[in-house]
Amino acid sequence: MEKIIVVGAGLSGATIARLFAEKGDKVTVVDKRDTIGGNAYDYVDKNGITVQPYGPHIFHTNEKVVFDFLSKYTEWEKYEHRVLANIGGKHVPVPFNLTSLFELYPKEKAEEIKEILVKEVGLDKKVPILTLKQHENPEVRKFAGFVYKNIFYTYTLKQWGFKPEELGEAVMNRVPVYVSYEDRYFTDEYQYMPKDGFTEMIANILRHPNITVKLGTDMKKDIALDDGKIYLYGKEFEGKLIYTGCVDELFNYKYGVLPYRSLKFKFKTKKCASYQDAAVVNYTTSAKFTRISEFTKFTCKPQEKTVIVKEFSKAFKKGRDIPYYPIPLQKNQLHYEKYREEANAYKDLYLLGRLANYKYINMDIAVLNAMKLFDEIVSEG
Ligand code: FAD
Ligand code: UDP
Repeated sequence: MEKIIVVGAGLSGATIARLFAEKGDKVTVVDKRDTIGGNAYDYVDKNGITVQPYGPHIFHTNEKVVFDFLSKYTEWEKYEHRVLANIGGKHVPVPFNLTSLFELYPKEKAEEIKEILVKEVGLDKKVPILTLKQHENPEVRKFAGFVYKNIFYTYTLKQWGFKPEELGEAVMNRVPVYVSYEDRYFTDEYQYMPKDGFTEMIANILRHPNITVKLGTDMKKDIALDDGKIYLYGKEFEGKLIYTGCVDELFNYKYGVLPYRSLKFKFKTKKCASYQDAAVVNYTTSAKFTRISEFTKFTCKPQEKTVIVKEFSKAFKKGRDIPYYPIPLQKNQLHYEKYREEANAYKDLYLLGRLANYKYINMDIAVLNAMKLFDEIVSEG
């Protein structure tokens, strides 16, 4: 039986903890927050509304193995996410689709553009905006310039502090342009919300006789790494340490602080059943915030009151802010690789999750990566 310590009780940490526990190992999961679930944490407020204090989280995946794993710990409620863009007060669907086209252009012009898009790109195709901007047909490029300006440019600058081209495909391909009337934000096969919330689902993952959860405990000060050896509470640790926190912090910032994007949330309870026309409205050409999310619309339960959150993006400052997003630029990846290489010298240290792997990943990939790492560790013997 192996002793396993998992730092972080988010989806990555909870998934791998469960897999080791079922194998028969004793696992301790430690989190510096007083709550489990990492950024997917949610709670029910005094009006019975499920609120996500670290930002709106929607589950969607094409990974059956992930869906099957999570289905052991929750029942699901069907939910297909739809988003609108507020463009100078007008609301149109995003991803930008043929409905958006007809809402923003005069009918005849829209028909003309539609015909060109169908011919040049293909009906029902999804195409990334940066690809569309490079299209050989000048009419397509002109249309792409319009979508770029109204949907992507301002929003991306607000969200990341960089232009779409600087971030490249890894970010921009997440929200392609649809040459169809498809108006769902995601087209994944499995799109559900956990019936009793993410916290309950993750609590069920962690509920196992071989798992001990310690909250409100920052592990950083108790871990020392020296010359290939891991020390915990001053003693050499014999077991496996799975770390899902920030890797730069783990190595005392010896190669400098990695860049992250942070967020500020402004929550408001409104005395109305519905605040806006969609669960999320992106402010793509105006406003200081990026988007407004309305939580009652995620659960499809009409209430007398509703809760909205405005999201403001900002640069991350160590010691002040929560590191929400790794910034996926190539130079940051190279910066991260220095830490990764350093970590490789510790054979019983494993980096996992959005922060430790410095990767902009969705929840399903967090679960998938935890499953893959578990398989790798077990096959190492
Ligand atoms: P985290 O959830 O960040 O968990 C890491 C945990 O480690 C934290 O609880 C932290 O407190 C703990 N920790 C760190 N350092 C220490 C330490 N020194 N000691 C103890 N504990 C420590 N994904 C989707 O699929 N759909 C969405 O709609 C979606 N929306 C998102 C919206 C926002 C605003 C953000 C920021 C992310 C969103 N994501 C979404 C991504 C999703 O949050 C992540 O994929 C997922 O939460 C990753 O889980 P994780 O366990 O790797 O990291
Ligand atoms: N994006 C945009 N306008 C939109 C929606 C998305 O410019 O209306 C860009 C923006 O750069 C954003 C990225 O596409 O960060 C990915 O969007 P997604 O909704 O996947 O981001 P998430 O909120 O899930 O991190």
